[in-house]
Amino acid sequence: MTMQITPEILQKLQNIVGTTFVFTDDETRNQYGHDETEDYVFPPSVVVKPASAQEISEIIKVANEYKIPVVPIGGRTGLSGGALSIHQGIGLSTDRLNKIIEIDEKNLQVITEPAVITQVLQDTVLEKSLFYPVDPSSRGSCFIGGNVAENAGGARAVKYGVTKDYVLNLEVVLPTGEIIWTGANTLKNSTGYNLTQLMVGSEGTLGIITKIVLKLLPKNSHNVLMLVPFYKAEQACEAVSAIFRAGIVPSALEFMERDAIDWAIKFIEGVNVDIKPEIQAHLLIEVDGNYPEILMLEAEKIMTVVEGFQIDEILFADTEDQKNALWRMRRGVAEAVKSNSVYKEEDTVVPRYELPTLLKGIKEIGDKYGFKSVCYGHAGDGNLHVNIIKADMTDDNWKTEVPKGIREIFELTVALKGTLSGEHGIGYVQKNFMDIAFSTLQLQLMKNIKQVFDPNNILNPGKIFPDNI
Ligand SMILES: Cc1cc2nc3c(=O)[nH]c(=O)nc-3n(C[C@H](O)[C@H](O)[C@H](O)COP(=O)(O)OP(=O)(O)OC[C@H]3O[C@@H](n4cnc5c(N)ncnc54)[C@H](O)[C@@H]3O)c2cc1C
Repeated sequence: MTMQITPEILQKLQNIVGTTFVFTDDETRNQYGHDETEDYVFPPSVVVKPASAQEISEIIKVANEYKIPVVPIGGRTGLSGGALSIHQGIGLSTDRLNKIIEIDEKNLQVITEPAVITQVLQDTVLEKSLFYPVDPSSRGSCFIGGNVAENAGGARAVKYGVTKDYVLNLEVVLPTGEIIWTGANTLKNSTGYNLTQLMVGSEGTLGIITKIVLKLLPKNSHNVLMLVPFYKAEQACEAVSAIFRAGIVPSALEFMERDAIDWAIKFIEGVNVDIKPEIQAHLLIEVDGNYPEILMLEAEKIMTVVEGFQIDEILFADTEDQKNALWRMRRGVAEAVKSNSVYKEEDTVVPRYELPTLLKGIKEIGDKYGFKSVCYGHAGDGNLHVNIIKADMTDDNWKTEVPKGIREIFELTVALKGTLSGEHGIGYVQKNFMDIAFSTLQLQLMKNIKQVFDPNNILNPGKIFPDNI
């Protein structure tokens, strides 16, 4: 691969997007050379900011001619290093494709470009009483295109599903430069292979998404939010599956270990929660719908379930302000942890009944390899984010012992019929653990698909697949 961007290549890129939108200065390259994955920085040789699918197509054709890697870059909130330009080349920022094209109120759909911030999309459709439920905690800064590329989830996935459940159709620039639509704007589609869903979660390796058609729902009018303190963290995990077995599907069911909540309270302004020293974990539980009486009955049923465990007094959020404060606290956990220490975040997911076994196993593995972990996440989905904290661990142990511990955590996850990532993707940092979840045959099948789409391997090379395959 050509890593050097020669003056001739630069000129071609400038001819496509204009000189104003081609950047070779260190500041811009560094800015677009990192996401939220640990402290990694891999600057591209050049950052380009095209304004249309047509311009992206022309850039991709140049990249194929000179065999230059191209990395699609969204809001750079990724936690698996997908947007890092590990082989330099062209960092293709989607920043300028940032318009909501149409809200189709008749069909409850929205057609959008990829660089719309997720929360902006949510708020804009809400003005028309429509609901886009996928709610990653990073919604204030991630892009909807990045959400599609990672198949993002978030707190409301437990009732409403993840990004894939809302993507109906995509316009994509293929790694060979052609522009296609992947399907149809329909709620059902049994017509041939599902190219739309193949693109969802493909982490910028199979195509650059330039338009997205999303399904919307009518908005709900009411919700009830409660914070339940547990004396034992494993019991909080046990309560998760018990709530579903009692016949309730909450709209959010989030787990936070003690440190997660303590650090978030310190980090986020305006959150006032008193927690007894003996409390080990909390569940944040929401039910939503249109009929307050039904929601109260559901909340009572949840109370009956959790009271079967050792809990302290349940906090009900009475006002919108209280609800917002609790959600700000939950959404702020990741940043709070990051502000405390260098850390590695794993995105384990298991069938939800296995959560207590997973949590116990993670702590035992931490003891074995000498690291502390702070766990939190979308417990209703069985999705536990494991933050391994460097704190005062030596650099040597961080480099040698922690990867062994992570491998054991993933082995445990897979043994429990789970997998490596529920929503953050594999990207750069988890690729060498893929052998735990997949056989060589399975990985080779995926690689063959990549080869069909991207014969010159120019689009986001070095991601998803282990180095040795
Ligand atoms: C504080 C915090 C909280 C988070 N909470 C959640 C959460 O609750 N749920 C969740 O799922 N994730 C969460 N994340 C992870 C992250 O926000 C998501 O993975 C998000 O979807 C990434 O979007 P982005 O626009 O930032 O993409 P980037 O980080 O810029 O890119 C991510 C990947 O998508 C590819 N890509 C981006 N745009 C395109 C495009 N147009 N076409 C093709 N490929 C593209 C990139 O090449 C890369 O591989 C969180 C992250 C942070 C920092």
